Amino acid sequence: MSFLIVANWKMNGTRSSFVDFIGKLNDKGNEITSKLVICPPFTSFSDNVKLNNNISIGAQNCHYKKSGPYTGEISVEMLKELGCTYVILGHSERAHETDSEIKLKSETAIGSGLHPIICVGENAEDNKNKKTKEVMEYQCKNRVPTHGEYTIAYEPIWAIGTGYVPSNNAIAEMIEVIKSSTGKKHIIYGGSVSLDNIENLLNISNLSGVLIGSASLDFERFYKIVQQVEKTYQF
Ligand code: PEP
Repeated sequence: MSFLIVANWKMNGTRSSFVDFIGKLNDKGNEITSKLVICPPFTSFSDNVKLNNNISIGAQNCHYKKSGPYTGEISVEMLKELGCTYVILGHSERAHETDSEIKLKSETAIGSGLHPIICVGENAEDNKNKKTKEVMEYQCKNRVPTHGEYTIAYEPIWAIGTGYVPSNNAIAEMIEVIKSSTGKKHIIYGGSVSLDNIENLLNISNLSGVLIGSASLDFERFYKIVQQVEKTYQF
């Protein structure tokens, strides 16, 4: 399986900056063997964006109902219509979501052929109180579906957008907890991944990918991270 690199643009970027970004990525074509999933805001999607084989478009949320009176929400069919094939679910910046909603959303996405990237991760207090393993097991049980194709992103909430990153050992340990709780083989990590720490993170032997927020917004910065991955993994 290729190393997975997910770019979460959050509420940043415009359609033209997205089209420009994808164009530059497409131009790098043969240099990239990793799998790239770029997740811009919904408004950046454009059904006429051409993508190289290893590049996919993801959304940052979807509703668990297929349609109905849900003002301001977006359905999986609407996303698919725009060429979207992945969806990030349960991101901690959408903190009002319950575990059961995240599970329902994941099931709806899987049922419609979208690939969910389901986020799990402990908050600072649970980390301080050494409850990380307990929280991971709970979240895996309550927000992750029992069937279907999906990816889990281990994203400690205290590491997102803060510049703090757990030790490699701590990440590797949680990846094992998530693997044994879900039976999934490939787990990715997210939380302040940058050009400064990617080389060190790639030493984690059970890491299958990364989810990158702020460091994915600028093409040159993002592409340097991709190059570091390519250098480490000789596919
Ligand atoms: C994220 O958006 O999930 C994320 C990890 O953001 P950042 O890389 O900015 O911490």
